[in-house]
Amino acid sequence: MTADTIWLVAFAWLGLSVGSFLNVCIHRIPSGASVANPPSRCPGCGYQLRWFDNIPVLSYIMLGGRCRQCRAPISLRYPIVELLTMAMFLLHWWMFGWTLLMVVRLAFACALIVLFAIDLEHHLLPNVITLPGIVAGLIVSTIVPPGLKDALIGTLIGGGVLWAIGEAYYRYSGREGMGGGDVKMLAMIGAFLGWKLVLVTLVLSSVAGSVIGMTVIALRRGDMKYALPYGTFLALGALAASLVGDQIVAWYVGMYDF
Ligand SMILES: [Zn+2]
Repeated sequence: MTADTIWLVAFAWLGLSVGSFLNVCIHRIPSGASVANPPSRCPGCGYQLRWFDNIPVLSYIMLGGRCRQCRAPISLRYPIVELLTMAMFLLHWWMFGWTLLMVVRLAFACALIVLFAIDLEHHLLPNVITLPGIVAGLIVSTIVPPGLKDALIGTLIGGGVLWAIGEAYYRYSGREGMGGGDVKMLAMIGAFLGWKLVLVTLVLSSVAGSVIGMTVIALRRGDMKYALPYGTFLALGALAASLVGDQIVAWYVGMYDF
């Protein structure tokens, strides 16, 4: 193996381990528990996981997806999030190389994974992620793209556009359309990606939302409007915008020859 390959394998392993930590965040943040301690326990019998029960993906396979002590099934979410995080690490290396921007976008992607999973399960986008996320995005934008000015405009557009849509929908229908969590999440996306890519995120997430929404309605023949929360689509859109948004913008601008 060349040195490059060894680095990449180590990086992939780091991705699995970070994914393991993201699982802890996904599990504990909605209930307000600490993500740092105590060590993980089986929710069924209280068995305290030892280091060899905690090896990403491998432990799950060795234990056959069950607790070592009480044989209660362990959620498939754990290995899925670990593998997904590893894939994100490799994808970001592929797109950005060994750069500071890669590290920043990777941290952003990790926050999106946690938000996606929590929103999917609890219909909730916790402030403890989105609010520090806005601040972190603005701070790092002083040293990596899109730059502070773009990031500030992105934060305002991100927060403002969704807030305005939600407000208009509320006045028109008298129903709450979008939660405050969506607004803060899009503001965070704007802080990391800047105003152009926050618009790309909005377009991509609406397209994904419509396609998946219509598919679900067609398959189940029901009103599935609230089946998938909007934050999950925002996460998918933001991830795509972060990775290939600049290419999409360049293609769009080229197409109309501005
Ligand atoms: Zn157990």
